Order: sequence, then structure tokens, then C-alpha cells
Amino acid sequence: MPRPHHAGGILTVDLNKIAENYGRLKSLLNGVTCGAVVKADAYGLGLSEVSQRLFREGCRDFFVALTDEGLSLRQDLRENGSSARIYVLNGVERGAEDLFVERDLIPVLNQLDEIKRWGVAGDRHSKPLPAIVNFDTGMARLGLDTLETDKLLADQSHLSAIDVRYIMSHLACSDESDNELNNQQNNKLKDISDKLDKDYSVSLSNSGGVFLGPEYHYQLARPGAALYGIKSSDLQTNQIAQVVRLQGKILQTRFVDTNMTVGYGATHSVIRNSRLATVALGYGDGLFRALSNRGSGYIGEHRAPIVGRVSMDLVTLDVTDIPEQETAPGVMVDFLTQHHTVDDLARDAGTIGYEVLTALGNRYHRRYIGGISA
Ligand SMILES: *Cc1c(COP(=O)(O)O)cnc(C)c1O
Repeated sequence: MPRPHHAGGILTVDLNKIAENYGRLKSLLNGVTCGAVVKADAYGLGLSEVSQRLFREGCRDFFVALTDEGLSLRQDLRENGSSARIYVLNGVERGAEDLFVERDLIPVLNQLDEIKRWGVAGDRHSKPLPAIVNFDTGMARLGLDTLETDKLLADQSHLSAIDVRYIMSHLACSDESDNELNNQQNNKLKDISDKLDKDYSVSLSNSGGVFLGPEYHYQLARPGAALYGIKSSDLQTNQIAQVVRLQGKILQTRFVDTNMTVGYGATHSVIRNSRLATVALGYGDGLFRALSNRGSGYIGEHRAPIVGRVSMDLVTLDVTDIPEQETAPGVMVDFLTQHHTVDDLARDAGTIGYEVLTALGNRYHRRYIGGISA
């Protein structure tokens, strides 16, 4: 990791805020177990730091997407013994079954074949192995489709060979509280649950689902986005705190006049005598090229619009209206703050907060507030 004075930018992750958001979700869940989705390096914010802090907050159910993410997390949480459950959303690859058992990873089983294979692995280990069984109720992405679901319901013997911790499904439109698909998916999952011989625990809600209310909560929730300060539901008000601050360093300032253009492609023409500041962040740092001539940086309360194209390592801001001493080389410009949030930047770039965080990359100097040793 680059040292602060060498880095072009500083990314500050406030783990206290993640803990606060976890607490808010827990209070909405009113006693239902609150897990945490920490896939993709905890949405770019640091798998190890985020997970250890959540563990300290009482979280014991962690979801990752990939086997390797699960292995890293098991290593990160090694001092916490085996009380943390680690679920792998993308399932168990053929041949990785023994590794899952050895490292205590719990697969989310997404197809019949996989369920059978996990049952066979259990025979080898002389005990049914823990798993979550995922049913596709309308997302058409992962999970048993209608055909496979019907097959499984007609012959449930394969389920008795595994230790089903939960059955689950995933909502496609949980961010839109009035979308009819939410209700339809919930009903489909209930219907499946009713047709199963055993009374399994259920997990349905991601962040958006938590905000949809108690009929979506069941026994285990799986929020990700809301933990990290991303707006994940039209019902999510300012009860969820911003978690990250992103600052970039001014390298140089210059005066330009009206016969100049700025940056690659000369996409910005100077229309008045202006002062520009060049900042050491670019699309290589997750400052999307789509922010060219659209996004902004902030110096204190002053907005400084991005002019010209964002390049790989650099971005140019119009700082004409900001006092000169506040824009000197070395000054740090905010791109993500309390008042210019992940979702604000996402809107300017035509994307979603999820992509903003996972695109951040690792060229920053990173600071953690509220870390496990603090
Ligand atoms: C990513 C993911 C989640 C978390 O979703 P958020 O919208 O970030 O809360 C939950 N469940 C599954 C299956 C996922 O893939």
C-alpha cells in the first residue's frame, strides 16, 4: 500500500460507521439473525478489516461469492475459532468438496447436481454436510429453476443426505418497494417451503429486503450494500451512514484562457479565464471516465466541477471560483464525503453505488477508523 505522502489519494474507511449500519439493520430485523455479505473484498472496503469488525459486533454469518474469498475470510477470522459461519454463494466446484469440509466453508447449492454431489461428499465424511439450498424464484440467475425445483419436491431424498441450514432465494427488485415481483418471489418461496417435508429455516432478504418489512425477514437476512452506506431501497432514508471518504491530491494548478481546451480529445473548451487544478486520481482509481465533464470534487464546501476527460491517473477540476490559497498543490480534494455520497458520484457516472465501491482499486493509501486493534 502506498504511504500517505506518496499516494495520489487517500481512502478512509470508517468501520465505526459500518458497525452503526449493522446495528440499524439489526434493529429493523427485530431479533431475526443479521448476516453480512462481504463478497468482492467487502464491496471493495477490505474483507479482513470489515469482517473482523462485524464479528466484534456479533455477526456470525458471512456470505462471500467465491471459494477463494471464503478461504481468505476463514484465515482472517482464525482467531475467532469456528463460530463464524462462512457461506459461499457461487456454490462448491466439483473437486473442492473436501477443501470446503476442511476449511469449514458452507456452500450455497444452486443446482440438483450439486446437491447430490454434496450428499456424496457427506457419505465420504460419514455425516451430512451443512449447506444452504438456493431456489430461483424470479431472478433467473442462480438457484434451482422451476424444473429442478419440481424434481426436488417430487423426490426429497437428496435433501436428507445433507444438513440443510437454510433454504434461500434472492430478490430481483428489492430496491423498489412497490414492485410486484417482490411479493411474487416471496410467495413462490413460501410455496416451496410449504411443499418441503421438513420445516427448514429461510433466508430471503438482501439490504433492500430488510427495508421491505417483517414478512421478508424469516430467520436470516443477508445485507451487503446498506452496511457500506449504499442506498439499496427507496425506503432507506438517512438512517444509513456514509462509510467512506475519498480524497485526491492536487499536483498542479494553472491559469488558462479562452483559446485553450482541456484534456484528451479536447472535449472541454475554456469559456472564460479560468484556474484549473490537476488531481492525482483517475479511472485507474475507480474515478469513472463517465465522470468526464460531469462529476465534481469538493474543497471544503466548494464544488469544483470536473472539466475535460478523466484520464487514467489524473483528473482536472475548474477551481476558478475557489480562493487560490485553498487550491494549492498538496491540498486534498474530496470525491466521496458525507455530503457527496457514493450514490451522488454513482448518479453523475450513470451507475450504482455498488459499482463505485467495488471499482475503487488499491492504489490509495488506506486508512481505517475503528479497526480491530483500535
Ligand atoms: C450480493 C448479494 C446479497 C447482498 O445484496 P445487497 O443488495 O448488497 O444487500 C445478498 N444475497 C445474494 C444472493 C447476493 O448475491
